[in-house]
Parts: sequence; structure tokens; C-alpha cells
Amino acid sequence: MEKIRLGKTGLMVTRIGFGALPIQAVDRGSAVKVTRYAYEQGINFFDTARAYTTSESDLGKALGDLGSEVIVATKAFYKNKDQLKEDFNTSYNNLQRDYIDLFQFHLVNEEDQLEEILKKGGPLEYLTEEKKRGRVKHIGITSHRPSLMPKALESGIFETVQIPLNYIENEPLERLIPLARSMDIGIIAMKPLAGGSFTNNRAAVKWILEHEGVVPIPGMRLIDEVDDILPALKGGPGSEELARLEADRRELGTNFCRRCNYCMPCPNEIEASFIIRAGLYFKRVGWDKMEDKHIGLFEKGLECDRCGTCEDKCPYYLPLTDMVIEESKNMLKSAVKLGVISEEECLKKISKAEKGTDE
Ligand code: SF4
Ligand code: SF4
Repeated sequence: MEKIRLGKTGLMVTRIGFGALPIQAVDRGSAVKVTRYAYEQGINFFDTARAYTTSESDLGKALGDLGSEVIVATKAFYKNKDQLKEDFNTSYNNLQRDYIDLFQFHLVNEEDQLEEILKKGGPLEYLTEEKKRGRVKHIGITSHRPSLMPKALESGIFETVQIPLNYIENEPLERLIPLARSMDIGIIAMKPLAGGSFTNNRAAVKWILEHEGVVPIPGMRLIDEVDDILPALKGGPGSEELARLEADRRELGTNFCRRCNYCMPCPNEIEASFIIRAGLYFKRVGWDKMEDKHIGLFEKGLECDRCGTCEDKCPYYLPLTDMVIEESKNMLKSAVKLGVISEEECLKKISKAEKGTDE
């Protein structure tokens, strides 16, 4: 598979990398199998995170014997130096490697977070020590807020930048990506599939590959998904594929969920991330798939007390507190139309929840 240089890191990574967030959602054996399969198909660049629960250790099991044949990136949050030290050591052990190729500061969305990283005695200091020891080779940064990244890059510290980039979220093309190219910073595109929201994943990846020096890391959890995406290397998107991407863009708008699940868990055990994308989900899989178990989830959604915990954690700043309640109501109303519940039941549930909220 074609390889490109990941900016000043000098790492030669395959044109498509492997995003290891979704392997958390399958059983451990399948996670290891799909990761190894991706390697066998030619992928040499794998990106995971301390926050992706089992993902790092599954990567370790799948790739730990391959040494420098693969390039492994991970990332962690960075409250302070001690916290980062603990997380780094966990990642290091999980990945079963002599060194981590690329360690990234995860989700740097606010200016004060960037200051925290860079301050004297802060988390960067620890990572720099690890770089001297040789347990990490390169340092990068990730963010869901591309407008903050030029400032981060100008610090001269980071060798790579990872930001959401896809047919819908293309803001980085204007300023950040040209800047990164001019500074020889490696550019990693997260969410190339918009969190699984596109109806043609291969076309979505083809679109990214048209942008010089940008390495997409589509999330893959099934062997079929690897097989579906890799042919994207054969050429750019055709007119029909572009039309599909454009139709998806119109359908999704900008306030759509990317299924990252950072908002979870809810202290009231509400399935917030599922609820807010349920309308789109049933539209695509078929409304007849709605069952009693789903009604329970939407009824539970009405118990949202607007604590804001989920909203504070969403890197896309989605107005979750409103969305959870509104979507729960909408879905119950849809259930009436589908005959899953009666109108009377629906109104009873909604009015019970509204009384509860007023009390
Ligand atoms: S705002 Fe509602 S859905 Fe979100 S965490 Fe709080 S209770 Fe849960
Ligand atoms: S609501 Fe936000 S945090 Fe939660 S899954 Fe969707 S995009 Fe991610």
C-alpha cells in the first residue's frame, strides 16, 4: 500500500490508517482479529487512545509482535503531569511495544487546556522526558476545534495534528491544513466517516484522499468494513459518489452526532447518544425495526433532569440537554404512528415526565 511521510515525524505511514475507537464495540477476539486483518491487508498505521477502554490492549494483542513494522499512535488526557504519567505507563504496557511512535494530547478544545499542557512542570514536560528515554518517539495534538490549532502549532512543540475532517466538516481546509503543510506538521484526519453517518464510506474516504498529505484514520470494527474502505485507494470519488456525499450533508446538517460517546455515561442512565440519533438510525434501518425495548429508552430519556453532564462532555458542543428530551418526545410520537404504542400511552408518558420536571 502507498505510504506517505507524516510530516516532520518522518514516519512513513500508509495512505489510510486504522482508527481503533470502534473495536471497543465488538468482543475482544473479534477486535484483535479485525486489527490484525487490517495489518495483513497492508495498513501500517494504527491510532487508539487511553480513553477507548479496551482498544489499546486489543491493539497490543494484535500487533505487539510486529515491532517497527507497524506505527502505533495513542493519546491521553492531561489534567496534570502525574495523571499523564500514569496514563502513559498504562498505554505503554497495553500496547506491548518498546516505544510508542506517536503520543498525542487528546481533545485539546480550549485555550486554557493548551496552556495547561505547555506550562512549566506540566504534562508536556513529562512527555519530553519520555521522549529522551526513547519510550515515545513523537508528540502530537488532537482537537475537535480546528480554529484553536494554529496557536498550538505555532508553539513549535507538536509534530502532528489530528482534527475532524470529512465532506461535511471541512473547515480545516481553509486555514489549519495549509498552515500545517507549511510547517511540515503531520496531518491526521479523524472522523473521516463522520462517525458512521455517511451512506457510502468508501466515497467519504476517497474524498479525503484527494487532499495532499492528509492521512485519514477511518474507524473499522468489522472485516467487511476494512474490505469496503481499502478500495478507496484506487481513485477519487466519481460524480455519483459525490452526489451521495452531498445528499448526506443535506440530511445531516451540522448538529449531528458523531457516535464518539464521550458524553456517556449519563448519571441517570439515559442513553443520550442513541436517543439523539435514533431518528436517523430508524430512517436508515427501517422504522419497522422499532421495538418495545426502544420505547423504554425514549421514556427514560424524558427523565432527563438537564444536569448538563453530557453536554459538557460533547466535543461538538451539541445542545444535548434540549436534544435528548425533544428527540425522546419525537420518537414516542413516531412510535404512535407506527402502532408500537397508542396515542394515549404516549401522551401519558410525556405528561408524566413534564409534571416530574415541573416539580
Ligand atoms: S442532561 Fe440529561 S441526558 Fe444529559 S447527563 Fe444529564 S440527565 Fe443525562
Ligand atoms: S452527542 Fe456528542 S459526545 Fe455524544 S456521541 Fe454524539 S458527538 Fe459524541
